[in-house]
Amino acid sequence: MEKKIILTGDRPTGALHLGHYVGSLKKRVELQNTGEYKQFVMIADLQALTDNAENPEKIRNNILEVMLDYLAVGLDPEKTTFFVQSHIPALYELPMYYSNLVTMSRLERNPTIKNEIKMRNFERSIPVGFMTYPISQAADITAFKAKYVPVGEDQLPMLEQAREIVASFNRIYKCEILVEPEAVLPDNSSCNRLVGTDGNTKMSKSLGNCIYLKDDEKSVKEKIMSMFTDPLHINVSDLGHTENNPVFIYLDAFSKTEDFAKFLPDYKDLDEMKAHYERGGLGDMKCKKLLNSIMQEFLRPIRERREKFEQDKGYLMDILRKGTEEAVEVSNKTVSEVRNAIGIDYFNDSTFLDKFVK
Ligand code: ATP
Ligand code: MG
Repeated sequence: MEKKIILTGDRPTGALHLGHYVGSLKKRVELQNTGEYKQFVMIADLQALTDNAENPEKIRNNILEVMLDYLAVGLDPEKTTFFVQSHIPALYELPMYYSNLVTMSRLERNPTIKNEIKMRNFERSIPVGFMTYPISQAADITAFKAKYVPVGEDQLPMLEQAREIVASFNRIYKCEILVEPEAVLPDNSSCNRLVGTDGNTKMSKSLGNCIYLKDDEKSVKEKIMSMFTDPLHINVSDLGHTENNPVFIYLDAFSKTEDFAKFLPDYKDLDEMKAHYERGGLGDMKCKKLLNSIMQEFLRPIRERREKFEQDKGYLMDILRKGTEEAVEVSNKTVSEVRNAIGIDYFNDSTFLDKFVK
């Protein structure tokens, strides 16, 4: 049986952070290592340009940063194909066809887009390319006939939009060429949308509230020590809230039961520690120190692998070039089928002249 296809990507607007890791990278590595799928990972430079048209150096500078993060977390070029979005002709062509299947009001209803417009203070000056990026994203996914898309929760509206496009296309052009994609969310719900260190609902490059996978030991510690906690927990003896408390959300996302025996044997597990915090008597500092120990242990090997790959930038370029070539080939096949289904494949269609009626 043919392997099912996975596709995801990241915008090269900065190095990757803990939100990317728990929201998507972790699943990609797990799925890659099952050997059951064919996985494509895309550096979404075109999408990054939709809100950075005047700042292309930012994107250029982050292509290899993102590539380094991929290899650092354990994505493996032997098992995963990496490519650059802007070099795939299909990803310019398919959106042209798909955009005729989507209404303006449908685009305006997309909750993630609404939120991102607010975050970027676009007000009424929204670039057309930004507004239509969900269509372009549907092209990214369908060009590779991807069935599974490991993403954080913010991407669910994009997948819904992609499924609608697929359904309309297959219905209108009476075919089954395009595949309806499904999101693969993280196993742990606190990871669907990891909060920022400032308590903002999403850790995001654009909000400057991130712990980056490449951060050094000192800055990780500083960021953790100045993290937002429970604003009502002023004195150690006060009752505390663990829900919506970023320190506990990160502990939910990253701690393992063994960590307690190793770093904070006062508690047997996270539930016991939470109970103490909630009834009062456990200070924020102690919680942050535990989180720091856990995060340092988690990030150290990632940072070390990153440093190793940094020594050979030629290798990174080779992987990307090879992957991009393969991606061009695969997606061109889909484009041929799409043109054929629409009936605009004039020069390759032997029935074209026969059907020409004057
Ligand atoms: P930007 O601010 O430029 O949009 P970003 O930090 O939102 O950057 P993206 O490149 O847009 O990152 O997202 C890439 C992938 O990482 C998506 O699948 C997204 O769902 C996931 N992701 C990003 N931030 C988080 C987060 N805080 N929690 C969970 N998943 C996340
Ligand atoms: Mg984003």
